[in-house]
Amino acid sequence: MRRGAAQHGAMIVGVHPLAGFDKVLHYRVPEPMRAAAQVGALVRVPIVNTMKLGIVGEIGAPADFPVERLKTLAQVVYPFPALPPDLLGLARWMARYYACGLDSIIETMIPAAVRRGAGLKQEKLLAIARRLPADELAALEKKAPAQAKLYRFLEQQFRPQPKALVLARLAVTAAVASGLEKRGVLREETRRIERTAYEDDHAAGELVAAQPHRLNEEQQRATDALAASLAENKFGVTLLHGVTGSGKTEVYLRAIAAALAAGGGVAFLVPEVALTPQTVARLRSRLEAIAPGLRCVVWHSHLSEGERLDGWLAMATGEARVVVGARSAIFAPVQNLRLIVIDEEHEPAYKQDETPRYHGRDVAVMRAKLAGALCVLGSATPSLESFTNVEAGKYKLLQLTQRVDARKLPYIDIVDLRIEAMKQRTLPALSGKLVRAMQDRLERREQTILFINRRGYSSSMLCTKCGHTEECSHCSIAMTYHRSDETLRCHLCGDQRNAPARCPKCGAPEIRWRGLGTQRIEEAVRRVVPRARIERMDTDTMSKKNRFREVLAAFRAGKIDVLVGTQMIGKGLDFPNVTLVGLVDADMSMHVPDFRANERTFQLLVQVAGRAGRGDRAGEVIVQTFTPQAEAIQFSRQADFAGFAAAELKIRKDFNYPPYRHLIHHLFRGPNPEKLQFFAEQWAKLVEKTLGDRVELRGPSASPIEKIKDEYRWQLWYFTHAVTKVVPELQRLRAEFAWPDDLTQVIDVDPVNLT
Ligand code: ADP
Ligand code: ZN
Repeated sequence: MRRGAAQHGAMIVGVHPLAGFDKVLHYRVPEPMRAAAQVGALVRVPIVNTMKLGIVGEIGAPADFPVERLKTLAQVVYPFPALPPDLLGLARWMARYYACGLDSIIETMIPAAVRRGAGLKQEKLLAIARRLPADELAALEKKAPAQAKLYRFLEQQFRPQPKALVLARLAVTAAVASGLEKRGVLREETRRIERTAYEDDHAAGELVAAQPHRLNEEQQRATDALAASLAENKFGVTLLHGVTGSGKTEVYLRAIAAALAAGGGVAFLVPEVALTPQTVARLRSRLEAIAPGLRCVVWHSHLSEGERLDGWLAMATGEARVVVGARSAIFAPVQNLRLIVIDEEHEPAYKQDETPRYHGRDVAVMRAKLAGALCVLGSATPSLESFTNVEAGKYKLLQLTQRVDARKLPYIDIVDLRIEAMKQRTLPALSGKLVRAMQDRLERREQTILFINRRGYSSSMLCTKCGHTEECSHCSIAMTYHRSDETLRCHLCGDQRNAPARCPKCGAPEIRWRGLGTQRIEEAVRRVVPRARIERMDTDTMSKKNRFREVLAAFRAGKIDVLVGTQMIGKGLDFPNVTLVGLVDADMSMHVPDFRANERTFQLLVQVAGRAGRGDRAGEVIVQTFTPQAEAIQFSRQADFAGFAAAELKIRKDFNYPPYRHLIHHLFRGPNPEKLQFFAEQWAKLVEKTLGDRVELRGPSASPIEKIKDEYRWQLWYFTHAVTKVVPELQRLRAEFAWPDDLTQVIDVDPVNLT
């Protein structure tokens, strides 16, 4: 203990208030609260004239404030820490790494209901306390038949029963129960009330077989290696690189079982829970089979506040030991964390695109480090970041090179659109080969998935007379045509207007719709396979809750022949009857101003191809492209990750791009582009002068999309080897710099989306 605390024999704590500012305030702890007021506890404290919640960050007195004048802690909200030590440490690291306030991170970590100090919601249960001998029961029947009725009902139950429910069902009053309680026959207990997310999945028929598979040799080897790592009971990271359909989930499940058996807690992250109810359902039924009675909390952004609170409390109290969820599940207060699994670790969805702009995978590795846990990163197409960590000896590598049951990886057929274009005067959306393959599938009663990574009908409206393209009036991008309701919509700001019949500029009727979208492909499919049952799946059609799951269930049940959708349907789906996958435009992801464009294209191709041929029949993949010679396409044909990684890493090395250095994006937004440029340049000069030895600057320059929602955008890039040395310095400079009021600036460390 520091000076002051010892002197006065008082207990003093430093508290991070959840009050919208980033500061530590100190309080004395009254005697009865001392046991509970530990580091990480949620407390109520007086600030000026109100009570606020806060998190105890340290125990000990401030160096620069007289202890006598400190105020007193008002309440410790829960008898357990709201932030276990590893999470508090993680919050501090994140604040330094991602250039944001500790308060904003604590806010992300703790559910809103908890931040408002929600109490524990409880329900009363009735249990038998003493069994009645036959004669006593007979006497009771005569004297108090209602009491006897209640007693007999409860005697037949295995578990204590909810009081309100029992009383209502038997139509007896509370006085009946209390009569029995007074005589020591019944006992009342309280239990926390909770709801369980995805309970309805089971009803929806999505419950997947719970029996474990017999591991094949490769799975067994991986399982043994993970068990050995877990037994070491210390921090480590393992990359599980397994081709699509190699049965990675089974390996994760075995590792989870091992961690649970050792008394540990587990966090399992998937890129997007709402989109992967299948994974969650499968995981849950298997986990519940492994450890009967195990509580598994599902955690994602679509939970209601009450559901989130329940899940959080279950983890914080140790009632539940497994959390499954999207990136924010990494902040679940898992007790005694032993294992973190990040499925599809390469997915950009792990990065949050608002403050705090953290990467769920990187944060997971750090949390594992702080908790002394094992972190397993799994993917068929690992990120180059994780792969270079293997090469550098920081991560272990496990490989599954074969699909289960010796199923073949699908055959990837490339359609060269240049040749198609020469053969036909107007280029159709679907090549002859793709059309024939679909017709063939329909005859064989097998299923097809078509991917096109743009929703809407076509990407832009072109007047062939004057060359005019209709742009959003608030953003500098072309508006997308949606035929379903004859509108032009901006995919950045959501603005929409009626699609014009004539060019808004010159009035000519010669309007052409350029580029492909899901609606146009759907229409094309209807034309070439009119008998097929077709469903479109993108954020336009899936806006209604549960629609996504309904469509997937119908697809699984064979009620849909062709599914047309954006990449959002490409994630982790496992449909045995899909034998054809078409990628309508492979070039779309390749020609974007992002140094990861090749990597993303390779991942996209391998992942979508991985959706084909997961059952007994072999799968076929047809990829349409104008650039068949591109490396991303060629390597993906063989699912040759090592080959692709070697080629791509050479380029990254030559340019000294990530993963060889970190990239930090600094965005400046405001209504006046000249002003943006001026201040961005002034700022860049200051950074160059102060930090020029530690960072390399690129820019400032106008962003690729110069305007979004009426705000202009300028940007600056920093390249560095040492984020935690540079970011706090940038933060300090940023706080001192005289920014104009109408300029907003955002720092994004390790950005994943560069456009
Ligand atoms: P991945 O995540 O590697 O693409 P999954 O874990 O989804 O693969 O597994 C693919 C399919 O193979 C699933 O339907 C799964 O139930 C099945 N599977 C996994 N392991 C085995 C095994 N050892 N034997 C038979 N089938 C298996
Ligand atoms: Zn717009």
